[in-house]
Amino acid sequence: MKTAEMSVPEIIRETAATLKSAGFDAWLVGGCVRDLLIGREPKDWDITTNARPEDIQKLFEETFYENNYGTVGVVTQSENPKLKVVEITPYRIEGKYSNARHPDEVRFSDKLEDDLERRDFTINAIAYDVMSGEMRDLHGGREDLARKVIVAVGDPHKRFEEDALRMLRAIRISAELDFAIDTQTATGIAANAAQLGKISRERVRDELVRIVMSERPLQALYMAQRLGILKYVLPELEEGLGCNQNQAHSFDVFEHLLRSLQHAADKNWSLDIRLSALLHDIGKPATREWSEEKKDWTFHGHDVVSAKMTKKILNDLKFPKDTVSKVSNLVRAHMFFSDPDVVTLSAVRRLIARVGQENIVDLVNLRVCDRIGTGRPKEHPFRLRKYMSMIDEAMRDPVSVGMLKIDGAKLIEKGEAPGPRIGWILHALLEEVLDEPSKNTEEYLEKRAGEMSDMADEALKELGEKGKDRKTEEEEAEVKKLRAKHHVS
Ligand code: ATP
Ligand code: MG
Repeated sequence: MKTAEMSVPEIIRETAATLKSAGFDAWLVGGCVRDLLIGREPKDWDITTNARPEDIQKLFEETFYENNYGTVGVVTQSENPKLKVVEITPYRIEGKYSNARHPDEVRFSDKLEDDLERRDFTINAIAYDVMSGEMRDLHGGREDLARKVIVAVGDPHKRFEEDALRMLRAIRISAELDFAIDTQTATGIAANAAQLGKISRERVRDELVRIVMSERPLQALYMAQRLGILKYVLPELEEGLGCNQNQAHSFDVFEHLLRSLQHAADKNWSLDIRLSALLHDIGKPATREWSEEKKDWTFHGHDVVSAKMTKKILNDLKFPKDTVSKVSNLVRAHMFFSDPDVVTLSAVRRLIARVGQENIVDLVNLRVCDRIGTGRPKEHPFRLRKYMSMIDEAMRDPVSVGMLKIDGAKLIEKGEAPGPRIGWILHALLEEVLDEPSKNTEEYLEKRAGEMSDMADEALKELGEKGKDRKTEEEEAEVKKLRAKHHVS
């Protein structure tokens, strides 16, 4: 393992030097020391010191102090976003926790030992003095780094009881570093799993995102399941355990979803694709029915139910609205694939119109994850390539209202009153153009719009919302039926 000759940025050295020349200690601590020791680039830099917040604020030109933990942010001149703010925290002693979330009080200390003792894992509790090169490793962190294990500092039971988020941090760090979790630490997690229910959904989400974005989400989520904390992160995922599928699959729904996600990670695809891969069949357990005729399981409407569940799950975890709508949209559409030898170009155009041009490549990638996740990839990649070339072709045709050779302004100019009728007419015209792109001419569309202008509201609305609304109603009915059957509200 590399030792202290580590590449610490100049700005960090200067910050430490300022503290030291004023007579205070300055130790790098936490993830940055851990990462330096294993040759990984630190995500952020933390300094701990015996100076108090007031002292720190006096020593640096630009600082902010807006929390209850004593952490002062020092604003630097650096262009690098990771170095723009260096966080300096006074030595702290672990306070009493009565809610598994926040210490009841924050107490400062004069001793580095106290501060190292309150940290979560031994590998995160190594202090390094950049000025002298000295290391303080009171809990065997370097040894655990070499063994690649995550070990709680002190009694794991107590530490997880104090702060339940640490359990999820253990899994996340193990996913990011490919470390094992020490047996006693794992036992402590299993015993305190239910405490995770007290942690805010935003904090759970942040750790979940890091797990999903790591190189090995499959391994990590399996571990979370085994240790009993997945129930408090994504309970719906556990319903897929032992939920066997039809002949096309080697795995139960749970493993299929994790393998689909793992493929997205192997490809280094975006968070949106990864979440879609993880959730695309989340509604399968609720829709599973045995078919005597097929002598196999069926999952009718699982795409619709999965999309609804995805929306709810991501909203509960406080994901941004864009993420929720994009991911549930992809999940809703994931069954699009049909035999490119029989599918028509107009069906492909309708698919693009429904999911949006900007999402179509992600949808195909989701399909790739789904395919690999079966463990029995039956579709030859050739078929997918052929479908992709049809998508390319269809993308040259008009697939949205904005691509029509007529717009709302033109309709108004021709005498149509502003209001919902404009939208109905444009959508009705798009329906025709999706079937037959050559109809996208000013001449034809103006003529058809003229005819539609004479239609009564009721009839025009029906025409305009034909493609879109009919589908939604059917979906609502389907979901109601399923809910009733499974007694869920
Ligand atoms: P990364 O920066 O890669 O996210 P990290 O380990 O540095 O990983 P931070 O959230 O930056 O994570 O926390 C910095 C340090 O603060 C940790 O290394 C650990 O020593 C301590 N720490 C963070 N969260 C906790 C916690 N919940 N309980 C105890 N110590 C913690
Ligand atoms: Mg950090």
